[in-house]
Amino acid sequence: MIDLSLNICRPGFNATCSLCCGSHNYSLTPGEYNQLFKLRSIRIKNGFFVNETEKFQEVVPGAMQCKYVGYTDRGKNEIGCLIHESEPKMTSSEKEFFRKVCSTFYCKGRDVLTKKEILFAAELTRDWFYYPILITEINYLRKLVNIYDNPSKITDNEMKKIKDDLIVILNCYINES
Ligand code: SF4
Ligand code: SF4
Repeated sequence: MIDLSLNICRPGFNATCSLCCGSHNYSLTPGEYNQLFKLRSIRIKNGFFVNETEKFQEVVPGAMQCKYVGYTDRGKNEIGCLIHESEPKMTSSEKEFFRKVCSTFYCKGRDVLTKKEILFAAELTRDWFYYPILITEINYLRKLVNIYDNPSKITDNEMKKIKDDLIVILNCYINES
């Protein structure tokens, strides 16, 4: 169910998703993630981003770990594609990568979730880590929407349980891959 008025990757409430770009495929602590995304944002502003040479341990060997994911806002809450905005400046190999990889990814959430479901997930999580897992686990998200209807009805304890569930779900994806 495509609603062009809403961008599922950046639906608002500080929720963002770069899951298909490999945002969750690093064996890093939250602090290390923060450093990495911050460094990339600074690098691209200074124009030498494409030279990133560090290698990071993958959670899923061989899966996407795109070096263009980083913070896109000053508050360092939102992540996304750091080269997307500057598309005209892309090198030919980046353009080729965009054409072959980024433009062809199939996102099930984009296809099947309603505007209400996406906004519910965004308002509930308000981040780049839990939001992508929630919109990927469609049945779990729909169960929450049916039970609560509005994220504001969810207590802190219930939220803690939901986050624990989402970590388990993420680990299941990782183990199955
Ligand atoms: S998985 Fe879907 S919502 Fe997330 S970044 Fe990719 S296209 Fe956007
Ligand atoms: S270049 Fe493609 S895979 Fe990398 S962050 Fe941008 S959209 Fe995602």
